[in-house]
This record gives sequence, structure tokens and C-alpha cells, in this order.
Amino acid sequence: MSRLTNCLGVVSQVFPRVSVTLLVTWSFWAVLFKVILLLPPFAGCSGVFFGIVLTFVWAMCLTTYYCVLFVGPGSPTEFPMLVVPGYSEDEDGNSNMAGEAMHPPERFVSHSMMVKGNGGFRFCSKCKCWKPDRSHHCSACERCILRMDHHCPWFGECIGFRNYRYFMQFLAYSEVYLVLVTWVSCWVLVQFFVNNRWSVELFSFHVLFVFCLGLVFTLSMALFTGFTLYQVLRNKTTIESYEMQRYRRRRHNVGNVFDLGWRENWRVVMGQHWWQWLLPVTYSYDVGGQCEDADLYANGLCFPLETEVASGLRLVERLERVSGELERGLLRR
Ligand SMILES: [Zn+2]
Ligand SMILES: [Zn+2]
Repeated sequence: MSRLTNCLGVVSQVFPRVSVTLLVTWSFWAVLFKVILLLPPFAGCSGVFFGIVLTFVWAMCLTTYYCVLFVGPGSPTEFPMLVVPGYSEDEDGNSNMAGEAMHPPERFVSHSMMVKGNGGFRFCSKCKCWKPDRSHHCSACERCILRMDHHCPWFGECIGFRNYRYFMQFLAYSEVYLVLVTWVSCWVLVQFFVNNRWSVELFSFHVLFVFCLGLVFTLSMALFTGFTLYQVLRNKTTIESYEMQRYRRRRHNVGNVFDLGWRENWRVVMGQHWWQWLLPVTYSYDVGGQCEDADLYANGLCFPLETEVASGLRLVERLERVSGELERGLLRR
């Protein structure tokens, strides 16, 4: 049974990757060899220019696609400070650890916002690790994913903290690519069958298939890209858009505490400069100043909070510390 499950797992990863690569490359080949290099009007400068633009967009589609796969979403299990190796559970779900042994590292606690329904810190018993804010366990990948957005069947991979920007770039380049191939194949079909411009011997069914598939994918990708862009500007993951989050000391729904305003939300995910938005180069968010926990922010273990929420949380923590100290002082007397 486990062999069958493993087999299905491999197929669900390999099949979409091979299909997407073949589909994108076949449509590129069809437009290049059956339209640009074959039909007379494309022999001039405009044809060369169109060919160069199409080649660039096609290459960027595949590059960003494989960046999503090779970079991966990132997992909290890669950080030893979050892993509890000795953890185990009996059949009733009772853990073998309690008290201090089962307390997350202090450095992690001070930055955590999200909690479980009972107010405790989030822990994954399958991965035996503490779950940073916005991370979730993916049953398809069988591991926890940092800032998990969704498990994408077109990649056979999760979209999360590290590969989200490449995913966004892939969506944008694919949409441009689809518009280009659909438009050019539509124009060629009109010239053949409405204007009777060329003899039917020059017609290729590949162009017809590119147009049909291109039309379907252009429309569906446009909707999905629009939705993803909207999510980026609100700094919300797909999971967060349909699941209510529980925040520490503010367990009722206070909205999205990670929403920093659309400009900053865009920069957090896509980078500070235009070339980081367009090119698949490495980028990690810089919280600025002399933050001693900058590495936690850069690795997706914690996230900048909306100013009002952050200052409110700091105030509550300060009050709790003072009241605790007062209580201890009174008890000593
Ligand atoms: Zn997990
Ligand atoms: Zn997954």
C-alpha cells in the first residue's frame, strides 16, 4: 500500500511538471516554426522583433516555473531551534513531553502572533516542530510549509514563503505569453479562413490547437492572476482568506494583522526594486534598522505586523510583565 502511495506521489509530482513544460514548449515551437518562420508577413523586422519578444517571454515562463520548484516553499523543519526530535504521541494523542520540555524557544515566542484554539503555541505533531506564524502542514507534501499559500497541482509542489515571488512572476509571464500566442494564432486563422490571404497548404493544425488552448488558458489564468495579485496587495495567503486566524492575546477576529498597506505588502513579497519584481533573482525582506532578529524575518519565521497591532501587543506584554512583578513583590512581603 505504501509503495502504491509513493508511486502516486511521484506521478502527481512528475506528471504536471512534464505536461506544463511540453505544453509551453510545443506552443512556442508551433508559433515559431508554423507562423513566424513560415508565413510571408513575419519575414520582416516586425517578425524578428515579435520572435525575440516571444522567445524572451517563453524563456522567462520556464525559468520562473523551475525557480518555484528548485527554490521550494521552505519548511520550519529546516530550523533546528523549532524541531523537538524526542517528541512522540501515544494512541490517545497524549504527548511524551510536558511543561518546560514542551515550550518553544523564547526568541521565537516573542515574535509569534498566531496561537491554537486553546491559546497555546502551534505545534505540528507529524513534523515534530513548532509552527511559525502563517505556516501550515501540507498533507500532499507531508511536511509543514512556511507562509503556506496553497498546494499547486500544476507544480506538484507547495507555494509558500520562499517561492511565492517566483510563482507570482510565473503567473505574470504566462499571462503575457498566452496573450501573445493566442492573439497571433487568432490573427493567422482570420487571414487563412476569412481573408483567404494564403493558400491552405501553408495552414497547420498546430496553430488551431494553440488558439483553442490559448483562449481557455488565457481567460482562466487572467482570473487566477488577478486573484493572486489582490492577495499580494492585501498580504493574505489563500488559506488565510478562507480561514479565521487566532491571534495571541486577541483571540477574537481583529482582521489581518499582517496588512501593512498595499505598497509595503507588495514590497514585502516582491522586493524593493523593479528589477526584483521582473527578474527571478534572490531576494529577502529587510526589516530595516538594527533589528537583532532580522534573520527570523528574512527566513519567514516571523512577519512584520501592522503598526497599531504591534504597539498594542507590546503594551499588553509590558502591562503583564509589570503586573507579574508587582504580584511577586507583594507575595514576598
Ligand atoms: Zn507538519
Ligand atoms: Zn504541498
